[in-house]
Amino acid sequence: MKLDVRPMLRGECDRIEVDFELLPFEINGASIDSNVKVLGDIVDTAGYMRLSLSVSFDYSGECARCLTPVNGRYETEFVRTVVSEGTLSEEQLEEDIDEYVVLENGVMDIDEQLREELILDFPMRLLCSEDCPGLCPKCGKPRREGDCGCDLTERDPRWDVLRNYFSEEK
Ligand SMILES: [Zn+2]
Ligand SMILES: [Zn+2]
Repeated sequence: MKLDVRPMLRGECDRIEVDFELLPFEINGASIDSNVKVLGDIVDTAGYMRLSLSVSFDYSGECARCLTPVNGRYETEFVRTVVSEGTLSEEQLEEDIDEYVVLENGVMDIDEQLREELILDFPMRLLCSEDCPGLCPKCGKPRREGDCGCDLTERDPRWDVLRNYFSEEK
């Protein structure tokens, strides 16, 4: 969405409300099941413009270990300093691109920047829980559902070191 910031640049106001939605897109293998709600404002403090947004959406995907469906609501903050084009040198922009939003002719268009930021921010892999035990390597049944009765004693001896380590821990 394009937002006209010129009234603020002319000094006619010191706050502009931001309220729009991005269309759903694919995010790290999960899907977004609602519009991406973007809410916040730009505040001008003596010529220093600060953009603060909260971004939220519903997502669904599957656990990377046991493939159980996972869904939830994701919320994150997006805070940037707003500058007019030409204010920063190319070098500054390259170094600190994730600190700034650059206006073009007094207009802010951050859809693409927001999408990229969300993709970086969203987990690379979803898990049904932090300690998901995954699937039985033999029959593929989720271990969380209980003992499948598979005999897993035939194992790679290289793992014994680790296994002993963990059983000693207990
Ligand atoms: Zn899981
Ligand atoms: Zn099994």
